Amino acid sequence: MVVTNKNIFLKNKNWAIVLVAQFLFFYILSKLDFAVNFFSKLFEWKKSLHIAIFSKFNFSFGDLVYILITIILIYLVWGLIKNRNSKFLKYILISFNIFYFMYQCFWGMLYFQTPIINKLQKRKISDYEVKNLTLKYLELCKKTREKVSENKNGVFIIRDIRQLKLEILKQQKNLPQNISIKKPVTDLSVKPSLFDSFMNKTGILGYYNPFTAESQYNPNIPATQLPFTLAHEMSHQLGYAREQEASFIAYLYSKKTNNADLQYSAQLYILKSLLRSIAKNDKPFAESIIGKYSVKMKKDRENEVVFAEKNTGLISDFFGATNDLFLKTNQQDGQVSYSYFINLLLLYEL
Ligand SMILES: [Zn+2]
Repeated sequence: MVVTNKNIFLKNKNWAIVLVAQFLFFYILSKLDFAVNFFSKLFEWKKSLHIAIFSKFNFSFGDLVYILITIILIYLVWGLIKNRNSKFLKYILISFNIFYFMYQCFWGMLYFQTPIINKLQKRKISDYEVKNLTLKYLELCKKTREKVSENKNGVFIIRDIRQLKLEILKQQKNLPQNISIKKPVTDLSVKPSLFDSFMNKTGILGYYNPFTAESQYNPNIPATQLPFTLAHEMSHQLGYAREQEASFIAYLYSKKTNNADLQYSAQLYILKSLLRSIAKNDKPFAESIIGKYSVKMKKDRENEVVFAEKNTGLISDFFGATNDLFLKTNQQDGQVSYSYFINLLLLYEL
């Protein structure tokens, strides 16, 4: 008997219908406050459990899971093409159903939590204030840069990465109550990615795994970017799904810490974010600020540019390659999300 493609699909239509029904179901839930609150609470419970389990592994267990899933998927797709056996399609559809369901329960619904910006007093911000804040951060960067260590080439290096991770955990307990009431994470589950050479090439700095609550980072990135990347990924662990909110929480850790590595990396990220937003309207001002970088800061900037050019093959843009890299990891509109971080920063700081 000849098995037609049509037959293969018809046999599995129920699983396809379940998947579409799930899309619809979670879409409706995302519009209901009580449902979103329920998933926020569920996350609080599951994050403790997941972190307790997966922090025990000294490598990224989630990366291993991704590798296995990829192998299984390739096998199933190959089987479907080669044998035209509807069973393969059935397994593929069932896997999609399971993963989609888990993803939404563990993570997806957190994108619909009340935005942090609603907790801040809204007001109009003038260009003058933004420029003043940029000058303030330039000075902060210069000052903090004097407190950190450097290698023989005069480029900033991190003193103790484990200490840095522990410091970020500690700072999760110091977040302002009017902004975050999320339970601090108790154990370190922040690991170098198994895909670090791939990350070099794509410019991805880090990512969070919703299925294991592990945070992964690329250990090869310039030291200037690493502490803020860790802080950003660890904010996802706390329960902040939106990219710019994770960066905002990461910025809050840097306000109270005494760890100069974390301070410097965060201040530099903020300075670059401000410069980018200003450069859209007033490039000469942004350029003049970069000209005022201290000699040590210029060395660090050069190091970032060299890294980006060497690895991604892309000519890094004027301000260094940091900000958009966070945005690329998620399908959000770079422009809009980016200004959301700046907005949060300005409303909080000014
Ligand atoms: Zn992120």
